[in-house]
Amino acid sequence: MNISDILETRKLTVSFEIFPPKQDSAFDAVLGYVDDLVTLSPDFISVTYGAGGGTSANTVRIASRIQETGVTPLAHLTCLSSTRDEVHRIIDELSAKGIGNVLALRGDRPKDPDFVPPGDFSHASDLVREIRSRGDFCVGGACYPEGHPESAHMDSDLDNLKKKVDEGCSFLTTQMFFDNNMLYSFLYRAQAKGINVPVLAGIMPVINASQIKRMVELSNAYLPPKILSLVDRFGESPEAMRQAGIAYATEQIIDLVSNGVRGIHIYAMNKSDVVGDIMGNISEIVKVAR
Ligand code: FAD
Repeated sequence: MNISDILETRKLTVSFEIFPPKQDSAFDAVLGYVDDLVTLSPDFISVTYGAGGGTSANTVRIASRIQETGVTPLAHLTCLSSTRDEVHRIIDELSAKGIGNVLALRGDRPKDPDFVPPGDFSHASDLVREIRSRGDFCVGGACYPEGHPESAHMDSDLDNLKKKVDEGCSFLTTQMFFDNNMLYSFLYRAQAKGINVPVLAGIMPVINASQIKRMVELSNAYLPPKILSLVDRFGESPEAMRQAGIAYATEQIIDLVSNGVRGIHIYAMNKSDVVGDIMGNISEIVKVAR
């Protein structure tokens, strides 16, 4: 099913994100996570894309598996490090497998200072245009409630986001954030720029102390004192930290849904048990709001 149709017809959507294994030997384990996540009745499941190598092929394989379960898959695709031909190959493969939803991303700049991108794509908006011109796809994009780390100003970041939406993005998924006020303020500013497509709130459950350091390095997300004290107090105790992280994510989601946010996207990090606990905590809320 087309994700923009799902977003239009449901009052609340809850979706999950998984990532493909780096090694093929772990492939079956990821299929197991897919099966577990499917039992939680998500509106769709997205699969990330690692530029180059085996993980990019695995994105299509895992998306196909999701499709077989009857849940709608959303395949991520990046473009900065790819040639136009490589991008065409993946789009055509998705099309052949009947996967019609793609999250179009630029991808991070490789850390290697000598890396020279092929140059066919500079921004995600170029990929949105390419996908739209190649078939009947529903295309989404990423957005950043606290601004993309490379952007000097939120205002210019929003101007660029508007260009991406104007190229044909039907919905946006946010980068993780830990302070809901960041999202509310972003939504007002996006609306003021004329960005009117649905925005799905990306929620990252923080269940261990080392994860948070890595996540913040990647995303630049603001960490409210409340989450810092959880990590300080429980970071050394895996079970307690897991419980506290699940409670924090649950509280974030309840506040978002209470305030009218209509799309919750949980970064499952291939931890279907954690997502299961969160969904258990909000089962009645989801029933009422959906
Ligand atoms: P863009 O929309 O191109 O924006 C990147 C930067 O360029 C921004 O600073 C923007 O303001 C600027 N910009 C955009 N257009 C223009 C323009 N026309 N002129 C000048 N500047 C411009 N990475 C992966 O490798 N695989 C994944 O599966 C993946 N999934 C993700 C899912 C989500 C929900 C999010 C939020 C991120 C994901 N990422 C993934 C990370 C993403 O690739 C990086 O954050 C990357 O740095 C930016 O990607 P983008 O698509 O937002 O880029």
